[in-house]
Amino acid sequence: MTLTLIALNFSHANHCMNLISAANATGCLPPSVYKVRDTPHAPAQLHRAVTLPSFKEPFAFQENTRLLAGTVMPVDQRPPNRLLQTLSAADFALVHPHLEIVELDRGKLLVEAGGELTYVYLPHSGIISSVVSLSEGQAVEVAMIGRDGIVGATEALCDAISLSDAAVVCQGRASVIAVEDFRAIAAESAAWRQLLARHEQSLLAQAQQSVACNAAHSVEERLSRWLLRARDLWDGETLPMTQEQLARMIGVQRNAISIVAHALQQAGVLSYSRGQIEIIDVEALRKSACECYHAVHAKQAHLFK
Ligand SMILES: [Zn+2]
Repeated sequence: MTLTLIALNFSHANHCMNLISAANATGCLPPSVYKVRDTPHAPAQLHRAVTLPSFKEPFAFQENTRLLAGTVMPVDQRPPNRLLQTLSAADFALVHPHLEIVELDRGKLLVEAGGELTYVYLPHSGIISSVVSLSEGQAVEVAMIGRDGIVGATEALCDAISLSDAAVVCQGRASVIAVEDFRAIAAESAAWRQLLARHEQSLLAQAQQSVACNAAHSVEERLSRWLLRARDLWDGETLPMTQEQLARMIGVQRNAISIVAHALQQAGVLSYSRGQIEIIDVEALRKSACECYHAVHAKQAHLFK
């Protein structure tokens, strides 16, 4: 598998290098791709959720898949979000009355940079991308947030103004807490504040690693890293992403993604069809990824041990 992958990559090397060099020079995500500006400051629309197939569980959640959007959460059940799972019973009792379950619709802009947060989001499933926009209309992903994280915590504890865009790239579900309630809980619970501080360190680790990764690593390494991270968060059997969307997430031109994705498919690492990606050989994908996936994973494991 590894030899096949290397041979394929070598055969494409010269062609890839030109494309990848060009792609890296303009490697950003146009805001028009992911921004849906209908209700940027409102929580995701409440409606009954469909049952998603279970792909895997990276964390030992006390999961209840029957938690549905818009329903009242039983006090003895924990939503499948790492922060909520980590809290002691006493601290969760503080948080629980303020939790509301919402649907995260694909493409939804939860908040844009400079906008005021109304809610913080603790995803149960799905993928939220934190994106920084540039003055010439480009944008780049700096962090991927899912059921191991929270969106808007630091902002909520300050002036509630978001530093970056937060957009749903893969649908899911989340618990939300109104900003005012979130502040009240943080004021009362030292354990909650400490947990949020650890999470912010985790987000910073992602952002720092992304800076280094985008500057130093190849498109194949970055794509493999992105897919591994998405696999950690996504519940479906296949990941619904077009090559164009992938290119924008990675911050490269579509041609570069097309070549690399084709090579990975030919090597049996993944299957790609009509905007659906299935990872066939996880071990091979890990080998083709750069060190950044494991570096961030190790930092997060240390922070939440
Ligand atoms: Zn990297």
